[in-house]
Amino acid sequence: MQEDKITKLDSDELENQPHLAALLKRKQEHEQEDQVESQFPHKLLEEAELGNKFFRCTVQVLGLSHKDDNRSFIYVTDYTSRQDFAPVYFKQPTGCTVGNDQILKVEARDEQARTAMSLAPGDFVAFRNIRLMVSTTNLVTGRIAGNERLIFKLNPNGTGNEDLIELLQRKEEWDARLEAKKAVVQNATKKSKPPKKVEKAREKEKATSSKKSYETLLGRTRSIREVQEYSRCPWRFYVRARLVDYYPLDLEESVILRCSSCDKNIPDQFNECPDCVEDMADSSAEPRYCFDLEIQDEDGETLTVEVRRKENTLLGGLEPAVLGDDFEVFEQFREKLSPILGNLEEVHQGIKRNKIVKPDTPFAIFEILSRQDGNKRGYEFMNHWLPDGDPEEE
Ligand SMILES: [Zn+2]
Repeated sequence: MQEDKITKLDSDELENQPHLAALLKRKQEHEQEDQVESQFPHKLLEEAELGNKFFRCTVQVLGLSHKDDNRSFIYVTDYTSRQDFAPVYFKQPTGCTVGNDQILKVEARDEQARTAMSLAPGDFVAFRNIRLMVSTTNLVTGRIAGNERLIFKLNPNGTGNEDLIELLQRKEEWDARLEAKKAVVQNATKKSKPPKKVEKAREKEKATSSKKSYETLLGRTRSIREVQEYSRCPWRFYVRARLVDYYPLDLEESVILRCSSCDKNIPDQFNECPDCVEDMADSSAEPRYCFDLEIQDEDGETLTVEVRRKENTLLGGLEPAVLGDDFEVFEQFREKLSPILGNLEEVHQGIKRNKIVKPDTPFAIFEILSRQDGNKRGYEFMNHWLPDGDPEEE
C-alpha cells in the first residue's frame, strides 16, 4: 500500500505535493553540494597543466564540428594564449578576432558530444572535468568525455559567476587592444614604419597581460564616475584612489558574527543567534569580516566598497576572530590595513574629541567588483596594489 502511494507521486505535478516538492528540493541541493565538492580547480587555458590533470574552465565557443552522435569538436577560447595549441582550421564567426594561439580544439565524446549539438558559436560555457592532451608532436588539444553533465551554458548577462566576468573582461580588453593595434598599424603604414615595432609591442603586451602589478594595472584604471556609470553589472574595475574613511569607525568592530544555521548576521548585543538558539546543536556563530572602505579618486569622487572576504591582498587570508576579544588577531588585522590606512585611526579619534585631523593616505589601485542589490548597485573590495617604488613616480 505504501508503494501505491509512492507511485501516485508525480514529480511533474509538484504544486499539489508539497512534501515531494520539499524532498526533491533537498535532493537537488544535496546533488549541487556534491557537485561543488567534487569540483576540480578552475584554470585559465594558458596555465592549465598537460596530461591527465582534470580542471574546470570558462570559455567562449568559436566553432563546432559534429562528427557523429558520440563525437564533436568544439573550438573555444578564454582569451589567454599559449604556443603549444594544435593548429586549427574552421570558419570563425564574423567579427571574431582571436589568433590561433588562443584557440583550443576540444574533442567532446559521449554525452558531451550531444550537449555540443545544442551549442552555437558565441556561446559562453563552463567545462567541468576537461583535460589537455598532448600529441606525439607536442601539440595540445582538449578532451571532455563521459555521461555526466559536464558542459554548462552560461548567461553573459547573468549575475554572480566570477569566472565568466573575468572572461568577459579579458574579451573586452582583447578587443580594445586589437582596436588600438589597428590604429597603430594604420599609422605605421601611413608613416611607412617597419611593422616590426608593432610586433614587439605585441610581444610586450603578451608578456605583461596576465601579470597584475601596480605598473601594469595603471593603464587599465577607470575613474569612480566611469565605474558608477558603467552599464554592465557585475563587472570588475581597477580604480586609482586613496582611502579617505572606513566604517565601522572603530576597527575593532570590523568583524561580525554570522549564524551558520540561518546564515543571518547576529545582532551586536548577542553572542549566538536569537532565532536559532533553540537549535544550538546545529548552529554556531562564525566571525566574518564586514567593514566598508570609502575611497576617493583624483577627481574627488568617492565610492564605498565593502570588504567581506578574507582572501584578498588586504587581509591575506587572515582568519577572522572577534577582534575585541582576540588582541593577537586584531594587531595582525591592523598591521595588514596599515599601508593604506595612513593616519585614519587618528582622524577617527579626533572626531571623538572634536579635533579635526586631516587624512593623509597613499594612492593605491583598488580592484572592485560591482553587484546589483535590488535596484541599488553595490561594490565589493577584491584586491589592491600599492606602487612598489617611489610613490611619487607617475
Ligand atoms: Zn540563526
